[in-house]
Amino acid sequence: MRAMVLFETHTALTETQLPEPVPSVGEILVRVEACAVCRTDLHVVDGELPNPQLPIIPGHEIVGRVIATGQNARRYAVGDRVGIPWLGRTCGVCTYCKAGMENLCDNPQFTGYTRNGGYAEFTTADERFAVPIPQMYSDTEAAPLLCAGLIGFRSLVKTGDARRLGIYGFGAAAHLVAQVALYQGRELYAFTRRGDVEGQEFARSLGAHWAGSSSDLPPVKLDAAIIFAPVGSLVPQALRALRKGGIVVCGGIHMSDIPQFPYELLWGEREICSVANLTRKDAEDFMTIAPKVPVRAQIELFPLVEANEALNRLRTGKLHGAAVLQP
Ligand SMILES: [Zn+2]
Ligand SMILES: [Zn+2]
Repeated sequence: MRAMVLFETHTALTETQLPEPVPSVGEILVRVEACAVCRTDLHVVDGELPNPQLPIIPGHEIVGRVIATGQNARRYAVGDRVGIPWLGRTCGVCTYCKAGMENLCDNPQFTGYTRNGGYAEFTTADERFAVPIPQMYSDTEAAPLLCAGLIGFRSLVKTGDARRLGIYGFGAAAHLVAQVALYQGRELYAFTRRGDVEGQEFARSLGAHWAGSSSDLPPVKLDAAIIFAPVGSLVPQALRALRKGGIVVCGGIHMSDIPQFPYELLWGEREICSVANLTRKDAEDFMTIAPKVPVRAQIELFPLVEANEALNRLRTGKLHGAAVLQP
């Protein structure tokens, strides 16, 4: 099969011919129909995440068809459509797994980071962690839902019933979460890079109440803010925008250092938290609400061999939706 493989961090992905993977016990073999490009893929390629498995095929927003099942894999039949998200497998026995917090598992496997992902024609997955895809979505439209959608949704849930919601970094995750937030009757405040007028217009076109630069303060105090941009200086900036008792949720896997800030910004029972990975329940909950909204992903298609180009466009902020690779 053809795959885009990372052999060393800080280099570009290489197009490589590999033997077709074989499903192990409890696994399914999937023909990849679409794989969305996530900012985490950039962090993997750039070597910003610890202990990557190398060589690695990135990609953890995979939609495909089951073409074979391994021993004891009975959940899906050949021909079924599945989604394969970031959480590839958990240990099932650690304190976190037992407490229903499998997103924090001590011994997890992550798709496209510690097990091969979807920048390829075929991949395998532990069937227990594959997700059925709602029928209304095409393969390419469903792909970005699997991380931008899921982890975005987990971030949104962390904000509780916040009505005035700020979102910093208006990319793939934000444009999906914004739709759910508006469906839930929240008031949306969108923050983009300074001068990104196009991004601000995009946010307004989705229904944002206000859109501006991330260095601006919104016209009212916010109940909560989600930060999707990997920029640590946004944390004190978001705290400044919050009312007392508000929460800042950091939705990314990697962020530059958070600069020093006066305690006064945190005082008043403001909170800062991060969102790590996802649980299977997040996936179920999101795939239930998404068709009701309905969440619509804005996508830009790229052939698989142009994975490096798609990553570059993401790096330079030149995408206003999600890039999706097609083998
Ligand atoms: Zn575990
Ligand atoms: Zn992701």
